[in-house]
Amino acid sequence: MSERRTFAVTTTGKGRPDYQAEVWRSKTEADILHSLHFNERFKLFYLCPTAAALAPPFRFPFVVDPMPPIPAVRSTEILIDVDTGLAMPYTTPIGTELQITMLWSTFNQNLRMRTWIDGLIAIEGYTDAFTTLMYNEVVSTSTADIDPTFAAAHTLLVQGTNLGAADLSGTAKVICIERIHGTELSTTKTVRCAWCGHTKVVPNETTLLTCPSPKCGNQTVFQHHPWGGTVKLPARTRVEKAQQPTLYKKMSGQRGRGQ
Ligand SMILES: [Zn+2]
Repeated sequence: MSERRTFAVTTTGKGRPDYQAEVWRSKTEADILHSLHFNERFKLFYLCPTAAALAPPFRFPFVVDPMPPIPAVRSTEILIDVDTGLAMPYTTPIGTELQITMLWSTFNQNLRMRTWIDGLIAIEGYTDAFTTLMYNEVVSTSTADIDPTFAAAHTLLVQGTNLGAADLSGTAKVICIERIHGTELSTTKTVRCAWCGHTKVVPNETTLLTCPSPKCGNQTVFQHHPWGGTVKLPARTRVEKAQQPTLYKKMSGQRGRGQ
């Protein structure tokens, strides 16, 4: 049995709600960046084998020579941390989680990609030559899957193998979110000169290393992906994010004590 009732509804505003801005906002990279929590940052690992000439002194650390076919040793290459120039495996310290959120690749030869967590094969994938793969995870692969209390350090290694008959060029990107649970946010990173392998500890914000090695002196260009809550906000989100600096101050004051 149903009952029909009539009651008054107070009208506020004019017309139907317009959610266009919210929909648009949810789809842009900038807003994904701005939605990162204070204890989160992007970790990006790239590899760009290319026949394009490198022009000293500058280069990106993930740009390498084309990868020859099997059985050459370089038929398999490991992805590079764009912030530091260090080759994977990337180690997540105790108290930290690493979550793979997106894969993107395009190559001119057939390719096999393998992902290893703690030395265990976790993902194997294949792409055809001259196709673009853009894979946005619904259920992300995360170190939290195997260590929900973040009690141990873990390693992530991604490598690509040329399955074609000729040299392979293209780009692979693996985009992760690193999430700190109770350990101190790092303010420095170790970067590696892409020309000679010299390493140096620098502030996180550093995007250019002039190699201090007297035999080198060349320059490597790194990226900087800051912790969430530290990103300068564009005008359109400034109002709704007005609370964020207070929150960030409050939360960051708890660093090192565990949350
Ligand atoms: Zn160098």
